[in-house]
Amino acid sequence: MHCMSFELSAEHEQFRRTVRDFAQREIAPHAAQWDRDHHFPVDVVHKMGELGLMGLTAPEEYGGAGLTGEDGAFTSLCLAIEEIGRVDQSMGITLEAAVGLGINPILTFGTDEQKQTWLPDLVSGAKLAGFGLTEPGAGSDASATKTRAELVNGDWVVNGAKQFITNSGSEITSVVTVTARTGERDGGKPELSTIMLPAGTPGFTAEKAYDKLGWHASDTHPLSFADAHVPEANLLGQRGRGYAQFLATLDDGRVAISALAVGCIQACLDLSLQYAGERTTFGVPIGRKQGVAFQIADLETMLHASRLLTYRAAAMKDSMSDASTDGGGSAMKDFKQAAAVAKLYTTESAVTATRIATQVFGGYGFMEEYPVARFYRDAKVLEIGEGTSEVQRMLIARGLGLPVE
Ligand SMILES: Cc1cc2nc3c(=O)[nH]c(=O)nc-3n(C[C@H](O)[C@H](O)[C@H](O)COP(=O)(O)OP(=O)(O)OC[C@H]3O[C@@H](n4cnc5c(N)ncnc54)[C@H](O)[C@@H]3O)c2cc1C
Repeated sequence: MHCMSFELSAEHEQFRRTVRDFAQREIAPHAAQWDRDHHFPVDVVHKMGELGLMGLTAPEEYGGAGLTGEDGAFTSLCLAIEEIGRVDQSMGITLEAAVGLGINPILTFGTDEQKQTWLPDLVSGAKLAGFGLTEPGAGSDASATKTRAELVNGDWVVNGAKQFITNSGSEITSVVTVTARTGERDGGKPELSTIMLPAGTPGFTAEKAYDKLGWHASDTHPLSFADAHVPEANLLGQRGRGYAQFLATLDDGRVAISALAVGCIQACLDLSLQYAGERTTFGVPIGRKQGVAFQIADLETMLHASRLLTYRAAAMKDSMSDASTDGGGSAMKDFKQAAAVAKLYTTESAVTATRIATQVFGGYGFMEEYPVARFYRDAKVLEIGEGTSEVQRMLIARGLGLPVE
């Protein structure tokens, strides 16, 4: 085992308190209203940027914090996502996607020029970027991508469609990175590459926002590309490395989603604990009844296990990020497994936790008057986005050496 150290430092705990105060002050009082109105609060994105949350893993030259793995940069990001997600899952995913899917691929694979062009505004929270992998016919099976990009007279001409893309059509979205077929390999397999499409490119349309079960205050759109022209220099990373690049992006993203799930479980525990002390039946608080108290004990147990899995995986990421990682080393293999295990366990626990919390609240749990109803609706997608539970089980089984399809 490469990394057994996942204790949070005093600095990390201090940072957690800072984000918690911010979330309590700027987000918690409005979360229910934004959810009801399906309102994407752009000003909160700016404020999260001003607090430095978008730049936790970015170098100073782009306006970031300049933290390294040794400082626990990725762990800090997970803490921020957990604390924001504890009051509002929509804003939690907005931060997660802004950094994990928006900034991270550009930071990791971009040229100096691409980084200078896009990162300062993304890191400051003035703008948002999205990452479009999923298509109507390609989700878990992302290699089935049909979107095409063809080089014609020094321009990429992009045609096709993406769906369910977070932060892709807000009024402050500056660019969306998409995977596209750029050719065919020997043997007929598609050559996939990633191309950056600036918002406003003629032929690139972010369609009407989805009507979702949850995450009502987060920005999610279908995208369409009809002869959208961008310069050849908008290729992100190497041509033909699109598949490998998004796999790497998703590994980190899975740990960040786990942090969002931890925030959800923590919220369920906080709300249930308080309610169990206040609500009385048969002359005593419901927390006196084992049937209720034991369920809350289960929430506490899930919370501890989820938090440990998440921050252990985050610590593994931080311990790798200063060394050169070629993607094939054993530390990387351990990290990928830890990320999949964390994603699977924490997100399924979050769904269970919201079911328990809603039950503790009885009829009120079904009313939008209490936040548990919102968390109940928001939790489900955690088991779906950035790789479904089934995909995580497949990865974990393969990591064990099983020849699973
Ligand atoms: C709100 C929201 C935001 C999102 N944001 C983004 C984003 O920003 N960028 C982006 O690219 N995508 C995004 N997604 C897409 C998300 O990642 C996909 O929905 C997800 O990966 C599943 O793909 P799919 O919907 O095509 O389902 P499918 O792949 O069609 O899966 C359907 C079912 O079959 C199961 N299944 C599929 N293959 C297997 C298998 N081999 N073995 C066992 N079971 C299998 C799945 O687990 C699932 O239960 C978002 C989705 C949502 C809902």
